[in-house]
Parts: sequence; C-alpha cells; structure tokens
Amino acid sequence: MGGVSDEDGSDMAPIIDTAPFANIALCFNPKLRNVFPMRGMLKFSMSLPSVCHICRRWPSQPLCAPCVERFAQPTLRCPTCALTLTHRHCRNCAEHPSPLDACVAAVSYTFPWAGCIARFKFQADPCLARALAHLMRHAPWVEPALDAATLVVPMPLSPTRLRERGFNQALELARHLATHKTHAHTLLRRGDSAHQVGASRQERLDHVRDAFWVAPERVSAVRGQRVVLVDDVMTTGASMYEAARALRAAGAAQITGLVLARTEEREVHH
Ligand SMILES: [Zn+2]
Ligand SMILES: [Zn+2]
Repeated sequence: MGGVSDEDGSDMAPIIDTAPFANIALCFNPKLRNVFPMRGMLKFSMSLPSVCHICRRWPSQPLCAPCVERFAQPTLRCPTCALTLTHRHCRNCAEHPSPLDACVAAVSYTFPWAGCIARFKFQADPCLARALAHLMRHAPWVEPALDAATLVVPMPLSPTRLRERGFNQALELARHLATHKTHAHTLLRRGDSAHQVGASRQERLDHVRDAFWVAPERVSAVRGQRVVLVDDVMTTGASMYEAARALRAAGAAQITGLVLARTEEREVHH
C-alpha cells in the first residue's frame, strides 16, 4: 500500500485510463480519494457502496432494491422465445418456431434496463455487470436452468467487435452466473462489419445465417450436453436461434436461451 494519492490525481490516471475498467471510478465515493490510495481502492471497489444506476440514490447497491422491485417484476413470458405473452399461444413462435427448448428473460428491453445495459456494454462497468447477473439469477426459472445445465456458453462476439469493445458482455454475465460451467470458446462467430441496428428481420436473418459454429475441439464437449446459452439482449432472436442451431448440429441434447433483456413484441415484427 502506498501513500495518500496526489491531489492532482496522477496516481489515478493509469487505472482509469485502462479499458475495460474505464468506468470503475464511478463505483467509488470520490470523497474517499484522500483516505485510501487509488491502487488499494481498486481491490475494494466491489464492496464499496455505489450509486444506484437507475434512481441515482447514494449510497446504494448498483441496482437498489426499490428499483428492482419497481422495474423487474416477473411477467408471463413465452417458454420458448421469452416474449411477454398477451395471448395463450405465442404468435411469434407460431410464425418463427424456436430452436430453443426453453428461453428465459429477466426483464424487458425498455426503460430503465436499456440504459443500464448500454452503460454495462460500452463502459465495461464491473459493478454493474455483477448487479445485472444477480438480477438475471433471481428471475423465475433461471436458477433451475443453471442447476440443470452441464455447459454454459456465452453468445460470442465477432473478432472485430471483440477488438472494438475489449470484452464480451455475454461472457461477463455467464461468468457471474455459473463460473465453473462457463466455456468461452465453445461457439465461434464469423467476422462481420455490418451493425444490425435498424436492419429488418429478413436482413438480420440473412446476416446471421451460418454465422456461428462450434469450435472443432469443443464438439465432443457439446455432444449430449444440457446447454444454457447466455446473452445480454434478445431482439428478433435471429442470432440466438442460429447459435442454437449450431449447438444442436454439434449434438447438444437440450438448449435453453438465457437473456438479461428481451425486446417487446411490437419491436420484433417489421
Ligand atoms: Zn434505485
Ligand atoms: Zn414464443
């Protein structure tokens, strides 16, 4: 442990300038800067109180209990595509049958979760990653799905995207959910450049066709397994469905999709 940080923050710069921890300073109470040296504080960051990412209350957990209570109430969802159900049968699955045996989502991809996920994804906030995984774990059916799984696979990013972002958000969630069952390099994803924002369903389907495959050295580890496929956001489901088909082709016995947030139905049909 060194001395007290300089007022000019020179001690701080190497830490906060280093991706993927660019936002780690948000986890700290800035007033404590003069009490603990910054390098020591990095180790304590997960246990220090932070601000709630939704209501901005401080001190708090990264997602405070009243906000979770208010915004993450379980809703009735389709068991195979996780859309919120307004009818007895899912029209989405009737139109586009799901290759997943089951699909579970913790929350809808709406306020305030869309903002939280953007912060988690683009600022690599480690406090928020843990809080969001915690939120997933406590959604209905998630714990039993993880217990039953023999293999947990994060949705891969393309090599280009991984380089741009510096980390795979799905892998971060999977590691918090099931450290010992998670295998990061099971699924591979073809490199791409096109961003899918604004693309139609058909364009997305064309884009992801044959985009995923199981790494040859992992095929025998997938055969006969009960797989949980983890992602942060599911929109049309096109990517997750293609990844599931690749796992199925490699012999996976059962595949459950597990996503943090699912878009509402109106955004699915273009
Ligand atoms: Zn809150
Ligand atoms: Zn459905």
